[in-house]
Parts: sequence; C-alpha cells; structure tokens
Amino acid sequence: MKVLVIGGGAREHALCRSLSQDPAVTELHCAPGNAGIAQVATVHPVDQLDGAQVTGLAERLGATLVVVGPEAPLVAGVADAVRAAGIPVFGPSGAAAQLEGSKAFAKDVMAGAGVPTARSYVCTTAAEAAEALDAFGAPYVVKDDGLAAGKGVVVTSDREAALAHAASCERVVIEEYLDGPEVSLFAITDGTTVVPLQPAQDFKRALDGDEGPNTGGMGAYSPLPWAPDGLVEEVLETVLQPTVDELRRRGTEFSGLLYAGLALTSRGTRVIEFNARFGDPETQVVLARLRTPLAAVLLASATGTLDQLEPLRWDEGAAVTVVVASEGYPAAPRTGDPIEGLTEAEADGTAFVLHAGTRAGEDGQVLSAGGRVLSVTATGADLAEARGHAYAAVDRISLKGGQHRTDIALKAATA
Ligand code: AMP
Repeated sequence: MKVLVIGGGAREHALCRSLSQDPAVTELHCAPGNAGIAQVATVHPVDQLDGAQVTGLAERLGATLVVVGPEAPLVAGVADAVRAAGIPVFGPSGAAAQLEGSKAFAKDVMAGAGVPTARSYVCTTAAEAAEALDAFGAPYVVKDDGLAAGKGVVVTSDREAALAHAASCERVVIEEYLDGPEVSLFAITDGTTVVPLQPAQDFKRALDGDEGPNTGGMGAYSPLPWAPDGLVEEVLETVLQPTVDELRRRGTEFSGLLYAGLALTSRGTRVIEFNARFGDPETQVVLARLRTPLAAVLLASATGTLDQLEPLRWDEGAAVTVVVASEGYPAAPRTGDPIEGLTEAEADGTAFVLHAGTRAGEDGQVLSAGGRVLSVTATGADLAEARGHAYAAVDRISLKGGQHRTDIALKAATA
C-alpha cells in the first residue's frame, strides 16, 4: 500500500509511526508533515485545506489510501475531493464532518438517534442566551457553534463571562453542565459497521491539578483502570452505532474516525461532543497499544469492508503521553527555539518522541514551531511504569521555556 497522510501534528506523527511499522505499507508520505514525521515518511508541502492540491498529490504519488488527520480539511471537503478521484480515503465527507463542524448539527443528530447528551439551546441573540443561561443555572456551558480548535467552549460560574462569550460568537449552543469524569472513546466506521478502539483520557488544562487555561491537550493515558466494566460495549450500543445509523439514514453517511467525548455522570453516560477525526493527544496512547497493523484497518473503513476485519488486538499494558509545550502556550507561544535531547529521550527504547509543532533547522537541528511542540509517549506494564518512562524521557529533553504538566495519569496510576 502507498499511503498519504494529511496533517502535521503529533496525531499525524503517531499515525505515520504506526503505518511505518506496518509491513503492508510499502510507501509512506505525509503532507505537510513536520520534522519528526520526516524521519518516517516522505513529506510534501501542500495546502491541506485545498482538496484539488491534496488530490493532485495523491494522484502523482499513486496513493492507494489517503488518511486525513485534522478536522479543518475534513470540514473543508478534502476527503470528498479525494474520494471523487476514485482514491480510497479515511475520513468523512464535509457534510458528515459537520458532526464536529457544527455543535448544533451534532445536537440534532443526537436527538434523532436518541443519544444521551446534555440538554441544550441554540442561541443567536443576547436575549436568547440570557434566557438559556438562566434556564440551566450555574455552572454555565457556552459553546461556539463552529470549529474553534478546542477553544470555543467556556465553562464558568460567572454569568457575565458566559454572556460575553455568547456575544463574541455568531451562534452558540448553551447547555446543562455535566458532572463526572471524562472519557474519550474512538471508533472506526465505514458508515455501517462500527469498531470501537480502547478508551483514553486527556488533560485539557495547561497546569497541574487541572488549573489554568484550556489547551489543545497536555497529555493522555490509556487504559482507564477506574472505568466501569462494559463501558465500551455500552457506548457502542447507546452512542456510536445509533449515531452512525442516524447519519446514514439522513444521507450523510459517516466513515472514518468517530470520536465520542463522554462524561460519566451520576445519571449515566452523556456525550459532551463528537469529533470527526482522531483526537490529539489520545491517539498517541491508543495507537501505542494497538497491535493490529493499522493500514488494513483504515483501508477497511475507506472501502466499506469493516465487517470482514478480524477483531482488533491490543497490548495488555498501558501508555502515557506527556505534551511538551512552548513558553507562553496557549496565549502567546514562543517559537524558533532549538530542541535538544531528542535522541537521548528515546535511547533506552522505553519511550518515543512524537513531534507536534517542530521544523527542521540548519545542521540537523530541530526547532520549535508551534504551541504544542512534542508529545513524549511511553508504554509500560501498567500506568505507573508507563508514566515513569514518559517522564524520564521528558527530563532528557531541553527546550528553552518549555512547559509540561507533571501529573498526567498520576491519579489513575496511584488509585
Ligand atoms: P468540547 O470542545 O465540547 O469538548 O468542550 C471542551 C471541554 O469543555 C470538555 O472537554 C469539557 O471539559 C468541557 N465541557 C464541554 N461541555 C460541557 C458540559 N456540558 N458540562 C461540563 N463540561 C463541559
């Protein structure tokens, strides 16, 4: 198989790493990629939001599978363009990606499918927003309807701040507050068959103890020893399969990766949000535990043959990823600093470094090029061991002003 991955973050590096270890993959390309991805795939410059450019590249390379990583190209219809050229593509159509691109659309699909989620109102005026906030009471949850790279949600007990966020967005979804631990569950689907992956948990706040501003994600771990037995089966039955069936029924068949962000509340499991692609940083730990070679799984989604796939095989152990972010992230990340210790971090074979925002400098140097810079990932017999390996690797890396959380998977490992 000749595989082309679209994107250039740690999620795409994780995908490329797994694909590069799959004997079925004879050629691996990524566009635009980053400095780490360039070590396992041939990288190509491309405007990832331009369906014609991506399709042209896939045709020139003779790609037999295109994997679209991030949400923006999916919502922009890049998978549609590739599919129209007759090339198998992993990722939903632009219409189906509205499940992530519009919170209001997602709520409508959930209502149609009978999927448990927070009660909500869609509001476009200040008066509507005020009424919705008062209907639910504090803490208030206000979500920008459109794509906001994980930064469109405000959860606050300050009514003025909630109103201000609503006023800054064209259209918002205001919903009841969901209490309880969060779980990310990914599933691969071809529009009919749904194959769940292993659950993971991510850490969205910048600082230890879940303090500080929201980020794209500062770390993750899998499995979740505290999760109730049967959680995956329950979510498959009550959330994933009904959602996929409802989208097919509406004529917006969804194939690719369906990501359910869940809250395990005292009143049962509720969907917080759907995403239409692999989540970052959870992908790093989920793929670290997947034993089944990845390419055939993604191709089965792209070609509608998931029902013929053997059950997935998983590593019994654990995986932890710790994100190293640049100084000033998330408000004003500083870039262009050299990163040292990357080879040392991987030297003992217990950890590997996935690149998020990096670029190649002169003389083989690797420079920071974004807010989240690295995703240092490790496996171990259990979470405590995987954590130990991940943090030992983080300690060997130096990036001026670099920051990371020190409590990723800590509670779960010591519970
Ligand atoms: P989202 O972009 O929808 O995943 O929201 C980002 C984060 O906001 C989630 O991971 C939750 O921590 C929080 N959040 C979103 N919706 C709710 C809700 N209804 N109740 C409580 N927290 C929420």
